[in-house]
Amino acid sequence: MSAELIDGAAIASQVLDEQKQRVAVLWRKKVRPGLAAILVGENPASEVYVRNKARACEEVGLHSELHRLPANCSESDVLALISRLNGNAQVHGILVQLPLPSHLDSERILQSVRPDKDIDGFSWHNLGALVAGNTRLAPCTPTGVMVMLDRVGIEIEGRNAVVIGRSVIVGKPMALMLIGRGATVTVCTSKTRDLREHTSRADILVVAVGKPGLVDGTMIKPGAVVFDVGINRMPDGKLAGDVDFASAREVASHITPVPGGVGRMTVAMLIANTVSAAERLIQPKS
Ligand code: NAD
Repeated sequence: MSAELIDGAAIASQVLDEQKQRVAVLWRKKVRPGLAAILVGENPASEVYVRNKARACEEVGLHSELHRLPANCSESDVLALISRLNGNAQVHGILVQLPLPSHLDSERILQSVRPDKDIDGFSWHNLGALVAGNTRLAPCTPTGVMVMLDRVGIEIEGRNAVVIGRSVIVGKPMALMLIGRGATVTVCTSKTRDLREHTSRADILVVAVGKPGLVDGTMIKPGAVVFDVGINRMPDGKLAGDVDFASAREVASHITPVPGGVGRMTVAMLIANTVSAAERLIQPKS
């Protein structure tokens, strides 16, 4: 069997087209949704991510602004900038590009973003809402995986889902979203004793670790749906996921490629979250 490719680029493009309609409605109300990105230092990968996000904003008609701070800036410089953006009515979404330099307390900085402008969904307020099953602004990467599952028409309820990785950015919210949709979910980490035992039972497998080739075709249940979240820069300069694509493709029923899979959806969901934040922020408070 050769798995069907889940085309992240095509689904992301559909999602972005849908955002254009929502943005047009907001424009008629004289609101132009705005996203402010904060980039500290000069990490080349972060530069690429921020550029892709700005390009997507432009494509759907969002205002976007980039705030650069030097790598040696102080924590209070970042907090002061976030405080200004929290109070700026033109800005509906704020994103702090990670990773931050190690002298900065990432947690304190992320938690200083107003929850209703927290388009990455990393605030405790928004993560707590997700735990409670009352999703507001949810982390973009796992939201993108859920959208792909739905658009491809994969049944979730009652299926065995295995998530490898337990970060706050991907693994944990991914598991919560799958639980919310009725999957039976196992979360594997670096401490898991026998990874294969778990992966070989997964109808839906999400791999978010950052280790190329961690999962190969021999570890995958025939007919499984595989989402490869990992992004690894290989010695030849090319990007690879965490899944050995060639062998996995022979066993899975559906699989996301890297690049062109989950990563494209992450950006699209960030734009969708910014539009949602703008829609909520202009609603009259009852
Ligand atoms: P992280 O380093 O915060 O978490 C990695 C997780 O993997 C940890 O929970 C750890 O326990 C687990 N792990 C490590 N070794 C393991 C092993 N041998 N077996 C099982 N589990 C193991 O990373 P993250 O921020 O969640 O990112 C994971 C990967 O996803 C990275 O490659 C990152 O670049 C990528 N990523 C991609 C997107 C996207 O849009 N596609 C978004 C976010 C992150």
